[in-house]
Amino acid sequence: MIAEIQTMTSYKYCEKTLQNAMPCVGIGLHGGKKVNMTLKPAPIGTGIVFVRTDVTDKKNTIPATYDRIVDTRLCSCLGNEDGVTVSTIEHLMGALSGFGITNLFIEVDGPEVPIMDGSAADFATLIECAGVLEQDAPLKALKILKEVSFADGKGAEVCLYPAEEGLSIDFMIDFKQSRAIGRQEYSIMLTPRSFKDAVAYARTFGFAQEVEMLRTMGLARGGSLDNAVVVDGDKVINPEGLRSDNEFVVHKTLDAVGDLYQVGMPIIGHFSGVKSGHAHTNTLLRHLMADPSAYEIVTMDEYEESLYQKERKSA
Ligand SMILES: [Zn+2]
Repeated sequence: MIAEIQTMTSYKYCEKTLQNAMPCVGIGLHGGKKVNMTLKPAPIGTGIVFVRTDVTDKKNTIPATYDRIVDTRLCSCLGNEDGVTVSTIEHLMGALSGFGITNLFIEVDGPEVPIMDGSAADFATLIECAGVLEQDAPLKALKILKEVSFADGKGAEVCLYPAEEGLSIDFMIDFKQSRAIGRQEYSIMLTPRSFKDAVAYARTFGFAQEVEMLRTMGLARGGSLDNAVVVDGDKVINPEGLRSDNEFVVHKTLDAVGDLYQVGMPIIGHFSGVKSGHAHTNTLLRHLMADPSAYEIVTMDEYEESLYQKERKSA
């Protein structure tokens, strides 16, 4: 599917938050407990910050940045210096990236972001209901200047390449153990429109035998067919089936969008993921940020102007 690319004229490059606070209630995937979450407007320069409202005796704020990721085994889990954590942030982060929200407080009264239906569709709806507020500060972006890659030696590989404009993503998965998934590829140019129409709906997925194992470990207590696609052998056991034939690879794309946004600003570049997960993307971001020659921070309106001048010269 070719994503619709939003024209430059309709998109304003500035910091953004929400117009109104937006509460929601859901359950945590692993703890299985009810979680209240409120998305709250935040001033210019705040970034994306989680606030654990149930924690009163320790520092309860956790900025959503790649260097605060403390666990990537099952989801992306953030922690602060007092050991206060919040898990399963990636689908919400994906929605914030998709809609270009740069400043937000996310209050949660427990250790997990609610899983909702396992996709980012509800988060996209919450953002749209709250309304996006353009703030009076120019948008900064991280432009990739040279290829940075990471391979785990077991077949997974992630890479960031330079690109002139925006963030584009390629993803490939190959599940030989299940014909229900098999080999799938997906490509998209990320815009608020393409995120909402083509990425947000894709649900997280797991294998029936894994779900059993996680339950015996005390995890995935909140997991059910209401918030995940469950694959048993060559079959999807959810009675309603898949939302699209390639829902699996689209979900991996959503995870990557959310994980990449932990760099703290939009990326101008191309990301390629092959059979990769949260840990690989996080390692890639650490490699990228450890090499100052691999990126530069640009102010978007100046950058757009320089691209325009370059085009004019070459025309
Ligand atoms: Zn996911």
